Amino acid sequence: MRSEGKMIFVTGGVMSSIGKGIATASLGRALTSRGYRVNALKIDPYVNVDAGTMNPFQHGEVFVTNDGAETDLDLGNYERFLGVDCRQYSNFTSGAVYQAVIEKERAGEYLGETVQLIPHITNEIKERIYYALSETCSDILIVEIGGTIGDFETPPFVEAIREIRIERGVENTLFMHVIPIAQASPWGEMKTKPTQHSVRALLTLGIQPDVLICRTSVDLPKEIRRKIASTCGVPVEAVIEASDVEEIEEAPLLFEREGVGDLVVKRMRLPKQEQVECGKWEEMTHRLKNPKRTVEIAVVGKYTEHGDAYLSVKEALKHGGIANEARVQIRWIESDELTEAENLSSRFEGVGGMLVPGGYGYRGIEGMICAIRYARENRVPYLGLCLGMQCMVIERARYAGLAGANSSEFDENAPHPVIHLMDTQDREGDKGGTQRLGLYPCVLKPDTRAHAAYGQARIEERHRHRYEVNNAYRARLEEAGLVWSGLSPDESLVEIAEASDHPWMVGSQFHPEFRSRPLTPHPLFVKFIEASLEWMTVAP
Ligand code: GLN
Repeated sequence: MRSEGKMIFVTGGVMSSIGKGIATASLGRALTSRGYRVNALKIDPYVNVDAGTMNPFQHGEVFVTNDGAETDLDLGNYERFLGVDCRQYSNFTSGAVYQAVIEKERAGEYLGETVQLIPHITNEIKERIYYALSETCSDILIVEIGGTIGDFETPPFVEAIREIRIERGVENTLFMHVIPIAQASPWGEMKTKPTQHSVRALLTLGIQPDVLICRTSVDLPKEIRRKIASTCGVPVEAVIEASDVEEIEEAPLLFEREGVGDLVVKRMRLPKQEQVECGKWEEMTHRLKNPKRTVEIAVVGKYTEHGDAYLSVKEALKHGGIANEARVQIRWIESDELTEAENLSSRFEGVGGMLVPGGYGYRGIEGMICAIRYARENRVPYLGLCLGMQCMVIERARYAGLAGANSSEFDENAPHPVIHLMDTQDREGDKGGTQRLGLYPCVLKPDTRAHAAYGQARIEERHRHRYEVNNAYRARLEEAGLVWSGLSPDESLVEIAEASDHPWMVGSQFHPEFRSRPLTPHPLFVKFIEASLEWMTVAP
């Protein structure tokens, strides 16, 4: 246990979606590369107890940790950039804080007191931050506060970090505010007023930012930096330009070039580190930016219109590309639009591989099944993730003559429920946090594609699903060409299925995308991209 670590608090101003999560992760990466133990925590001011019940259309992907927390997608960025495993305590919401305080109140923990926003809610917030700091044994814990300063929901969190500054002192805390620099007027003049107003809003809550991260699509001229510095009360070297990058992996390098690392080390009086990581991140970024080949992958999903709904899948495909020195281009295909009557070859022409990601509910499923049939018949490399594996099993069952085969999630009265809820599962219970969540072990069958990809017999992967392959159909589907190449250690659950009559068709009940990182790409994605590149050279 160690709780003397330092804390950097990241807030955002003016508007959302300006890349605060990437800024947090990039700062973390820059400091990690300098040899510090860095971890990150995300606070979400919304009232949901966790992200698990939110629609990906509204909030993007739900990221799942090893210990089964359903979290904000920024945790995925932290894990990928920092190389850490986040945990349940790495993300909390207003809902979780209020729930905990109300439960304590009911249990009589505050007996006799009036339970109030200050100090009870703020104390709960502070306790959670200190807990994460000590559990992660961090030299530096970066705490990102979701939303924007000025939102109705953020003041209790800002008050909590203000108090932490007083409790821990100036050297042990740093306030970083991320803001967009507006370009207005027909000739693109830069406007700093929104920046100034946002800093003023933060000041009214008692916080003077130490560093300003200025998001901009053009270079920040010196006089603009000086103006921001003097109007916002920060030294000019603490006005950091964070311009748009083509690949987010470039952002930590950009931060270093802007001097953020030196600034933080000096300002927080961090001890100089011996063990500096030599250029691994730079080397990876160089490979990413200089691919030898390009491969296009069709992602057939049901939330393709929201850019972040499949964030980890997108990133994991990119990592698979890095390992194969290839640029992966994604062709997003809305499964809703695919029908059996359509000739799919024009949709999939030129793609090297097809991926069907996770999802819930019947909409778009028949389109996914059509796409999978196309991949099977045309020998297109295929990777199915969770729902994508379940659809692959349904498609195979129908192909094998089991008419009307389906998942009982989509058709409760399906004549052949090849995917179903097991008898041991609760059918009526609460929706929040009740799925099969987090890390589970899986044993791989020798001489399968799965085994060849991992190069080991036992693995652990992250899950988020309710339905399972129906064991009553296992033998029948094996006869029809499926191989159950990954099973739970007691063999009661199918974890990976693959096709024996196809060059590379693999589906996993788990979500490998959550464990893929730019420095350690996931083996299934590496092999899938390899198979797709290979297929491109032989495809008709
Ligand atoms: N809806 C499916 C289930 O609950 C798949 C879930 C997923 O793809 N994450 O089992």
